[in-house]
Amino acid sequence: MIIPFDLHTHCTLSFDGKSSAEDMVDRAIKLGIKYYALTDHIDLGDFPDPDFDLEATVNGAKEQLPALQQKYAGDFTLLYGVELGQAVQDKELTEKLLSENDYDFVIGSTHNIRGHEDFYFLDYKEADVPELLRLYFEELLETAEWGRFDVMGHITYPLRYITGDCGIEADLTRFGGIIDRILQALIKNGKGIEINTSGLRQKYGRMFPDADIVKRYRELGGKILTIGSDAHCTDDLGKGIAEGIAAAREAGFTEIAVFRKRKPLFIGI
Ligand SMILES: [Zn+2]
Ligand SMILES: [Zn+2]
Repeated sequence: MIIPFDLHTHCTLSFDGKSSAEDMVDRAIKLGIKYYALTDHIDLGDFPDPDFDLEATVNGAKEQLPALQQKYAGDFTLLYGVELGQAVQDKELTEKLLSENDYDFVIGSTHNIRGHEDFYFLDYKEADVPELLRLYFEELLETAEWGRFDVMGHITYPLRYITGDCGIEADLTRFGGIIDRILQALIKNGKGIEINTSGLRQKYGRMFPDADIVKRYRELGGKILTIGSDAHCTDDLGKGIAEGIAAAREAGFTEIAVFRKRKPLFIGI
């Protein structure tokens, strides 16, 4: 199957990226992808990764991506994107970044909750998992209500570690009320969600979020859904997109969004 889009990927502009921007673009073109986004990490808040250099990331993207857009313009569209982590933990800096950079596409993600490290580092054998999840969803709600991004990134991300790595099954039914409020706030603000297929390549083995949340977003009136592999190297580019499209169809979607200059365009699936 031709992969039509991949709207969430990283290159060496991210502290954890493995392939250069040009290599990623080259691979996307070889795969026949028409809409391809590089969305390198800008993580804000109390616990930035020690390898993360804000200025180098922002300026690197500003130098490289518009030039690559020009170089490969034609049948292929490169989106100048960004994955903003924990934006509500530093709204002032976020506003500044958004006003100074001409992004096509902004993913609003939460990798850690206020006062806690990235979910990657937490000890779930010791932690109060339901309380951590409650705080996580509270911060997603705050982010959704703030709404200065295009789609909310990988909802249910902590399950990658809680369930995938530590084998602790988390019961999300108790969070149904707040998940509805998050989705309603996104819809009210004209914002979307993404299907992030990286979990399929990890121990977790599922997408972020599961199909039931995608379906619920649609039932509540949501229309803006993107799909991304969250690849950090050329080998993972496009992986799981076909499964993501199948899940989107199952949830009732007939169109997937891509973005130019922060405006959604819809591609039939
Ligand atoms: Zn992320
Ligand atoms: Zn990512």
